[in-house]
Amino acid sequence: MAFTLRGDDAVQELQPSPIPEPYWVGFSSSAAKLVNIPLNDNGYPQDESWLAVLAGNSLVTQSSQFSQPIATVYSGHQFGVWAGQLGDGRAILLGEVADQELQLKGAGKTRYSRMGDGRAVLRSSIREFLCSEAMYALGIPTSRALSVVGSDLPVLRETKETAAVCARLAPSFMRVGHFEHFAATQNIVRLKELADQLIDQHYPDCRSTQDPYLELFLKICERNARLVAQWQGVGFCHGVLNSDNISVLGLTIDYGPFGFLDYFQIDHICNHSDQGGRYAYHRQPQIMHWNMACLASAFIPLIELNHPQEESQELLTKALSQFPVVYGQAWQKLFRQKLGLVTEQADDIQLIERLLQAMHDSKVDFTTLFRGLAEINTEAPITEISMRNDFIDRDSMDQWFGDYIARLKSESSLDSKRKLNMNRVNPKYVLRNHLAQVAIEKAQEKDFSELAKLLQILESPFDEQAQYEEYASPPPPNLSAIEVSCSS
Ligand code: AMP
Ligand code: MG
Ligand code: MG
Repeated sequence: MAFTLRGDDAVQELQPSPIPEPYWVGFSSSAAKLVNIPLNDNGYPQDESWLAVLAGNSLVTQSSQFSQPIATVYSGHQFGVWAGQLGDGRAILLGEVADQELQLKGAGKTRYSRMGDGRAVLRSSIREFLCSEAMYALGIPTSRALSVVGSDLPVLRETKETAAVCARLAPSFMRVGHFEHFAATQNIVRLKELADQLIDQHYPDCRSTQDPYLELFLKICERNARLVAQWQGVGFCHGVLNSDNISVLGLTIDYGPFGFLDYFQIDHICNHSDQGGRYAYHRQPQIMHWNMACLASAFIPLIELNHPQEESQELLTKALSQFPVVYGQAWQKLFRQKLGLVTEQADDIQLIERLLQAMHDSKVDFTTLFRGLAEINTEAPITEISMRNDFIDRDSMDQWFGDYIARLKSESSLDSKRKLNMNRVNPKYVLRNHLAQVAIEKAQEKDFSELAKLLQILESPFDEQAQYEEYASPPPPNLSAIEVSCSS
């Protein structure tokens, strides 16, 4: 069931604002399956009325009627500072299809638009579309993207661009910011309704525990801790980990100035507007923990329903302290898998950290390096490992390769089997900025073939796709510094 809160300032019931002469830019047949939309051979819906619906121009298809679209209110912390009331300023929740909330991003102004125009540009809509589907294919929890619909409607950003609407799907788009809103406004009735709705619809096991709200908090922390570990594992930088962009289902949401690591820098900042590097790659775990602390504050009134004040804070503090534990375990498990290690040995973490340090020192491409490790022949001399040429300090790297091979042999690792396992966790293809950029520039010229092709490649990120070898390579050095800002 969709967001069930009604009345007061919790939601605004409204219609999306139409865009003139909408056209398909991209469509995910895989996401369409999730919501049972029958498709033609061309991969677009048989029922043509979907185009108008996903443009925000109509509320009716042959099979569904979206009778009560809404925008919801939330508040939150942006770049570490309390920002007060925010809300769905350009996202409109149409309703539910097959247990998924269907939300149109860029569908016009809402009560929560503040100074914004309620629109999203083609560029950022394509990026969100591609990355949502790419993350799903990587096995990382995320909102999905069904479509991008374009229009020639001009939208003013730094330059004149055009409007697009991205249709997103998730079991719920509920955020940390929703809880913060009702805690900040001391609307405990709403706060409790929100928590009850979340438990009933998405965390039913919490209901039967002694302390359902505390259990809910723990579970949300756990999911988000595991989520960040997965981001770190594929070199994904979100870019804007504000508390209003953090899902309480532990999904990756609100794709903006994100980036996948190319040439590895542990403190890589993908968002050009993030001058202090608050959301740099290596800070993401700590920042997610910080966001969970914001959620903990918002949960205090809920825990106080069953416990005295002081005890409530202690319980939440203790629950919050689990975050680094869960994160650490998930990260270690994942990076062992990335190295093809099956057993756990005490020095493994040091081995992983030595590798990351060497990659950082030599700015080695994150994705191709991990993918390449699977090719190592443990019986051949180290000098035959071609990757060693990517490192500046070759002697210390040879030492590392030697230690790595010895470590593999200590668990009688079989090269062929290890390669299969590693290739399931180390993707060959990720959505590198320069690849997205080519698809965007073509789409701006109304050629959507590159977008479709890139989507198809990213839908099988772990498979060798020999004809698309160049899509696996890091950008040429002159393209490696594409800067992406918050402007979208
Ligand atoms: P974001 O940084 O995209 O997560 O957005 C932060 C807040 O600003 C959210 O409340 C958005 O709904 C709102 N917002 C961003 N862009 C616009 C826009 N063009 N029009 C209206 N609201 C916007
Ligand atoms: Mg729901
Ligand atoms: Mg947002």
